[in-house]
Amino acid sequence: MKCRKCRQKAIIYMPEHRLALCQQCYAPWFLDHTERAIKKFHMFTHQDRVLVAVSGGKDSLALWHALTELGYEADGLYIDLGIDGGFGYSDKSKQACMRLAERLHRTLHTVSVAEEVGASVPEIKELTRRVACSGCGLVKRYFMNRISLDADYDVIATGHNLDDEAAVLFANTLRWDEEYLARQYPVLQERDGLRKKVKPFIYFTEKQTTVYALVNRIEYVREECPFAVGATSLYHKGILNELEHHSPGTKRRFLDGFFKIRERFSSPERAKLTPCQKCGQPTTTEICAYCRLVDHIHRRQAAHSVA
Ligand code: SF4
Ligand code: ZN
Repeated sequence: MKCRKCRQKAIIYMPEHRLALCQQCYAPWFLDHTERAIKKFHMFTHQDRVLVAVSGGKDSLALWHALTELGYEADGLYIDLGIDGGFGYSDKSKQACMRLAERLHRTLHTVSVAEEVGASVPEIKELTRRVACSGCGLVKRYFMNRISLDADYDVIATGHNLDDEAAVLFANTLRWDEEYLARQYPVLQERDGLRKKVKPFIYFTEKQTTVYALVNRIEYVREECPFAVGATSLYHKGILNELEHHSPGTKRRFLDGFFKIRERFSSPERAKLTPCQKCGQPTTTEICAYCRLVDHIHRRQAAHSVA
């Protein structure tokens, strides 16, 4: 197959766009579409400082690379979850983020969950007896917000792609979860001390972000987080991939169609956020969920050490 733009050998065919591109033409196409999404949803401008939450995987590293290529003031934030999984998942991820930071000549902020909370994500899982993703999600949201405020970033960008967002929409629709549906959008505006959050890769498939990472020789961690194995979202992604295969463009139409009618889903009046009495981060309760988690972990650790 030949590249539609220059007739060289194509490296990717995107049936949803009826477009084949070669190695040279792919990155400019990808960057152009990244910029279009940023502008379409008014995510940020060249005057804003952007904090990219990087996990070491292809999507977030590709996002950081793409934003710097487009001339944005984008730094990285790596949250060390302390997950090993038998192959040093977190260590490898951190190395990948550090390598890219060096290559881009940009700052990489790092924070260790084990140091901050007193327990890594697998230890939090054991001590709270809840699924790992529950504690992990909570601490990630907390650090993203705290560091973006402390280091004065205007906006937090994450590498969620079309496959991720379509799978979340699918799950929310299966449950008709109005509250989540009302909030599913590539931009969450700033409010009461919560920084604005954006998803510039909302329209790229996993394959497209992977190819961008490969053509730019971005070294990323290929293994998934060991706690993601068996997740329902992976099952939903499989179903959506089948639908996409039979009818290219299904995921994008699913998402765009939803964005058009999204306002029909009203979220209940959201409680006002006030500063946590312990840490000062925004919360709807006196003490925020993060500080309550840290207290709980410390109590459980003290109980274990007595026993
Ligand atoms: Fe955290 Fe892993 Fe769960 Fe993702 S899959 S939320 S990284 S524990
Ligand atoms: Zn707090």
